[in-house]
Order: sequence, then C-alpha cells, then structure tokens
Amino acid sequence: MKALVLEQQDKATLAEVKEIALPEMAEGDVRVDISWSGLNYKDALAITGKGKIIRQFPMVPGIDFSGRVSRSNDARFTVGQPVILTGWGVGETHWGGLAEQACVKGDWLVPLPEGLAARNAMIIGTAGFTAMLCVMALEEAGVKPESGTVVVTGASGGVGSTAVALLHTLGYTVAAVTGRESTHDYLRKLGASEILSRDDFAETRPLEKQIWAGAVDTVGDKVLAKVLAQTNYGGCVAACGLAGGFGLPTTVMPFILRNVRLQGVDSVSVPADRRSAVWERLLKTLPQSFYEQAATEITLEQAPVVAADFLDNKIQGRTLVKIT
Ligand code: NDP
Repeated sequence: MKALVLEQQDKATLAEVKEIALPEMAEGDVRVDISWSGLNYKDALAITGKGKIIRQFPMVPGIDFSGRVSRSNDARFTVGQPVILTGWGVGETHWGGLAEQACVKGDWLVPLPEGLAARNAMIIGTAGFTAMLCVMALEEAGVKPESGTVVVTGASGGVGSTAVALLHTLGYTVAAVTGRESTHDYLRKLGASEILSRDDFAETRPLEKQIWAGAVDTVGDKVLAKVLAQTNYGGCVAACGLAGGFGLPTTVMPFILRNVRLQGVDSVSVPADRRSAVWERLLKTLPQSFYEQAATEITLEQAPVVAADFLDNKIQGRTLVKIT
C-alpha cells in the first residue's frame, strides 16, 4: 500500500510517500481501506518532528481516518462497513491514517453514523470530535446559552472553528479569539458575534472583570490564564490544547474566589459508548454550511508541506487528505 512514512536520520524526522506492507492481522484486528484522513496539529508535530509525538520508527502518521472495512477478525465489523477512527494512539504508536490502508483493533473503530458521509466525517475528524467534547464539558458544568458569552481561543483552527460553529448552532453567543485578521470573515460566517485579538490576551492579572460564562481553550499558556481570570463566577473553561504553549501561568484566585472550573478534555482515550454519542450529536448539530466552509483538500504527497504550514499558523479550519 501507499503511505506517508516517517523515518529518523541524525535525530531529524524524514517524511516520504512510499510503498510498504501492513503487518499481519491479529485476533480482534480489522483492516480498513481508507478514503479520507485529516491533518491535525498533532500530525503536524509528528510529521515535522517538532513535537515528540513518535518514538518508534518507521511510523505511518495520521491520527484519524474514515473508510470501509476490507477484512475483519472482529465479529462486530463486516466487510464493506463504513467506519471512523480517531485517537487510541493511532498515528503515534500504531500505524495511522495517512495511508491507503490501516490495520487496527476493532475496539478502536466507530461505525460511521447513518447519514454522515465519509468525507464529512473527516471534515469533523479529531478536531471536531474534540470540539464537541469541549461543548459537552461546558453543558455538563451547567453553562447554558442564557448563561452568557462563551469564548473560543485559537478560533480559526480545526478545533476552534468547529467549536464556534457548534456553540452558535446550539444557541450560544460566541466570542472568538484569533491571531489573524484574515480569518475574521470566516469566523463571522461560522457564527462568532465578537472577535478579539490574541494580542489582548498576552498579559493578565490574577482576577479581571468577569466576561465569560464559559470557554473552549485550544491554546493554553498566557491565553488560558487570561480566560480563567475573566471567567464568571461558577463558569467553566474546557481546556484541550497547547497551540500557544503547554505552560499555564495562572493563580488559584479564579478557582477559590469565583468557583471557576477548569475542565481538561482528552479525545484519545474516550470510552466507546461516549464516542458514538459524540458522533451522533455532531451529525445532528452541525449545519450543512459548516461542511461547505470549513475544509481544504490535499493529497498524501502534499501532507509534509502542509504540516509545516500548520506550525506556522497558516492553516484555517480543517485539512482533509484524500486517499482513495
Ligand atoms: P490548528 O493548528 O488547526 O489550530 C490551532 C489554532 O491555534 C491556530 O489556528 C491559531 O488560531 C492558534 N494558534 C496557533 N499558534 C498559536 C500561538 N503560537 N499562540 C496562540 N495561538 C496560536 O490545530 P487543531 O485545531 O487541530 O488543534 C488545536 C490544539 O488542540 C492543538 O494544541 C492540539 O494539539 C490540541 N488538540 C487536543 C486534543 C485532545 O485530545 N486534547 C485533540 C485535538 C487537538 P488563530 O490563528 O485563530 O489564532
């Protein structure tokens, strides 16, 4: 099969499209002919070698894909069945989705929900799946549309843009924080009613004027610290990312004086029943216009160049990799 293969030479990561053979299937494995994969921030870190995502080489990156089952050692999956995969270390410790085929545990697959096209599933991808987990975290913390404005940081990225679209469709008033003026029209179309500059989030005090009922933070570091200081009494901040850094220069003040909740969000190891519920909600909530606005399509061969663009903050919305 054709795959993007990562190898290491003199501590540098080399990425090249090659012909390689998949390993033999084990008990419980399912083989999938991949139709679409996505390019995510984590894939960009892996492909460029700028993040320590991959420790065993050669590796096929790609943390998500959609496709059809071609062979199955798992009674729950039949040949021809459309499936989705996100997370579980695929594309990190196990060969991933930037390839014509994958061989994964049946436990890791989610049947493609009826009514969701395989291409649209990857427009959502890990980013959209994570955005929905963040929205659900806010709901579970009691943040309602009438509670006030929800702020989304790193808003024009994959997770951020889907979070803006989801929150807007669910009736929330959404403020978007972005570092790029070129994305303002895009963010307004997705449903942001207020747009703030990332520069305004560079400095913070332990507590600031209360502005946000909730937040979806994909950036971390100083931006997250500022969001926490501006969150309303009893509000919740769903933190899933580190596009601005993995630090968190904050104080205990928002937590002990304003009852603010900082809810971590992980998409990799979400249990199977919650995964299906998240996909069903994504299908029900996202409007058709989202799929038309939010994706750029590339080939496997273009993935290394586009991965570098990710880390240079040149990417807007979701990047889809067409496999077959
Ligand atoms: P993208 O690259 O698509 O989006 C990241 C966005 O962050 C950019 O579009 C940009 O938004 C903003 N950004 C980029 N660089 C900086 C910077 N130096 N300082 C501040 N903001 C910056 O990535 P994804 O949407 O795929 O992922 C977003 C984050 O979420 C990543 O850190 C990723 O690792 C994490 N993630 C975590 C998951 C989990 O399971 N917890 C799952 C999926 C993603 P703008 O230009 O609008 O400012």
